[in-house]
Amino acid sequence: MYDCIIVGGGIAGITAAIYLKNANKKVLLIEKGTMGGILNNISKIKNYPGFTEITGPDLALNLYDQVKNNSIEYILDTVIGIESGTSNKVKLKNKELECKYLILATGKEARKLGLPNEDKLLGKGVSYCALCDGHFFKDKDVCVLGAGDSAVVEALYLSNICHHVTVLSKYPKFKCQEGVLNELLKKDNVTILYNSLTSSLNEENGKLVSINYNQNGEEKNIKTSAVFVYIGSTPNILSGIDLELDGKYLKVDNQMQTSLDSIYAVGDIISKDLYQLVGAANDGMIAATSIIKRLNKE
Ligand SMILES: Cc1cc2nc3c(=O)[nH]c(=O)nc-3n(C[C@H](O)[C@H](O)[C@H](O)COP(=O)(O)OP(=O)(O)OC[C@H]3O[C@@H](n4cnc5c(N)ncnc54)[C@H](O)[C@@H]3O)c2cc1C
Repeated sequence: MYDCIIVGGGIAGITAAIYLKNANKKVLLIEKGTMGGILNNISKIKNYPGFTEITGPDLALNLYDQVKNNSIEYILDTVIGIESGTSNKVKLKNKELECKYLILATGKEARKLGLPNEDKLLGKGVSYCALCDGHFFKDKDVCVLGAGDSAVVEALYLSNICHHVTVLSKYPKFKCQEGVLNELLKKDNVTILYNSLTSSLNEENGKLVSINYNQNGEEKNIKTSAVFVYIGSTPNILSGIDLELDGKYLKVDNQMQTSLDSIYAVGDIISKDLYQLVGAANDGMIAATSIIKRLNKE
């Protein structure tokens, strides 16, 4: 029986694990992909304290080193369900684990466009990660779809690799920080199209060759080797128990406690105003210290 199992090895889950381990609690971290989570897909971070600038994969690696240096027990596997009763049960494909407290730190995943060819063209011109796939389109013309911080930052990253980057925002303006947008606007190989909603992904011989988009009611076409999609995300909610939601996200109180007494949730999976690294780390710290206090009273 673990004191606490944490599902998700992003910055939120790892922070919680560090605090619990330092308090000498029996903690297990479960990650289905790469430690550091979404950080592994981020090209540049400029607002994380202690680093003037750092790449996402470098920060992810630092976090993984911290997991190992603190001798935090971890498993690389996918949690397929959870159950809650007198204790909490965490189901993996081949085993079931038990814990007193559970922290859900499963983050969110990129939202898809929902267009007919999208899944078929994944890896053949459709991507949700400029850092992972940008180099496949070196010196080519590409498009970035989206209007938020991620779209702008990743368009800037692509403008240093690709021949030309067209950014399509479905709104009349961007919804992002001014500084980074100004940097993008200075680039002479970037075109910005406002009020432009992508309506089809067109393929030839199994590869993306162009997209159609609707701009102010007029249907237009642009040739492109790739589209990088940054149009929001959907939280990774685990099946098994019905926790109270706020929209699509898990609802928590100020201790990061969900609607079930022994289940906490942290980071990008919870409902909040700002989804940022320092906030996710802070959530992990709050949940862990709340659980530590409760364990110490037992
Ligand atoms: C492109 C982009 C750029 C960004 N840039 C910045 C920035 O510059 N500054 C900033 O402060 N924030 C930035 N953010 C936001 C920030 O990265 C996130 O808020 C933060 O990393 C969220 O951390 P997390 O631990 O909650 O989630 P994640 O990092 O998503 O971690 C969740 C983990 O859970 C794992 N998981 C999911 N389901 C399961 C399962 N069933 N079993 C086991 N494991 C599972 C996933 O594999 C993943 O590793 C950016 C986000 C994006 C997408």
